[in-house]
Amino acid sequence: MRLSKAGYFADFAVYPSIVLGLLTLTLRHAPSVVWIEWSIACLAGIAAWTLLEYAIHRGVLHRIRFFAAMHELHHEDPEGFVGTPTWLSLPAVCIGALFPLWWKTGFDFASGVTAGLMLGYVWYVGLHHMLHHWRIPPGSYLYHRKHCHALHHHARQPCNFGVTSQFWDRVFGTAHRAR
Ligand SMILES: [Zn+2]
Ligand SMILES: [Zn+2]
Repeated sequence: MRLSKAGYFADFAVYPSIVLGLLTLTLRHAPSVVWIEWSIACLAGIAAWTLLEYAIHRGVLHRIRFFAAMHELHHEDPEGFVGTPTWLSLPAVCIGALFPLWWKTGFDFASGVTAGLMLGYVWYVGLHHMLHHWRIPPGSYLYHRKHCHALHHHARQPCNFGVTSQFWDRVFGTAHRAR
């Protein structure tokens, strides 16, 4: 979806603030919760995000006509302010992760996993912006990601749906390696 400049960059203010809020609430609500437990839940959320990123990009943004039409705007104009508005992604993460996990496992675990999902999402959005807007010197992680993502945009066969990593592309056989 085409966004205003403010709408495009809103994720970078909204999500880190919510992650801080979740952490503060968890510590206030359960001060004895050790950092390591929350951190493990958070890392699990980040790992889950990498799979979600792959599944959403491949299964929704390239397969379901309504969303594919919106995603196509990005493929046509990779440097434009095109993305998912925060008012759509935030309810999705609350309804899809925070509330059901809270209900099933309690606030502390739900808060950690949701924070991880949000951090993974911001990492993805930020990295995707860098890949299309920054000049990146060869030889780095960013350069490799940039090549892989360029192949997603320009290769003939559908490939490289993961933006932050190629792990799930390798698992599901859609990896196209950059040289
Ligand atoms: Zn795509
Ligand atoms: Zn792109």
